[in-house]
Amino acid sequence: MKLVLLGPPGAGKGTQAASIVEKYNLPHISTGDIFRKNLKEGTELGLKAKSFMDRGELVPDSLVVEIVVDRLSEGDTANGYLLDGFPRTVVQAEYLNDFLEKNDDHLDYVLNIKVDPNVLVERAVGRRICKDCGATYHVDFNPSQVEGVCDKCGGELYQRSDDNEETVTNRIKVYTDETSPLIEYYNDKKLLVDINGQKDISDVFTDIVDILGE
Ligand SMILES: [Zn+2]
Repeated sequence: MKLVLLGPPGAGKGTQAASIVEKYNLPHISTGDIFRKNLKEGTELGLKAKSFMDRGELVPDSLVVEIVVDRLSEGDTANGYLLDGFPRTVVQAEYLNDFLEKNDDHLDYVLNIKVDPNVLVERAVGRRICKDCGATYHVDFNPSQVEGVCDKCGGELYQRSDDNEETVTNRIKVYTDETSPLIEYYNDKKLLVDINGQKDISDVFTDIVDILGE
């Protein structure tokens, strides 16, 4: 099963990705992870990417695709994979489509976790994180027993500086602008499935399993 997972920042994509790869025994292919690995190991592709990043430039689509395709060619992907953070643009999606077609292959689903922007803002602005153990809370939806104190370790809770309304609103707008054409592209290809990300985490996963099958 070959899947792409889309969702705005704060929609719970990471949690769902972890559950999907565990249940279906798929490699979780996150562009961030592959980039870090190539950079760390100083591979030829990693060095190429670094030369753009060092100049403060975006890594071009063709190189992003090359790095992902290189990963998709490893043996553990034979039965499928979950792509997370890729493709980001229609150009990348077209490259991926070409690669798959060349191998007489195709994606099965593009899962699109949808959450109302106002809810995303509310989630982010109320988020509190433990300075010591990294546990996360929410002032309304998942408060600590004592305000400002971690239930698990007694550490102090803080609010990340970028979890404010303006930054979060902007983050969502950037995501939406970037992803709308991609969502349209996959919708046209009849691969897109919208997932309501405003339910409880476990209910969101149940909906995903209903689509992918047991
Ligand atoms: Zn803690």
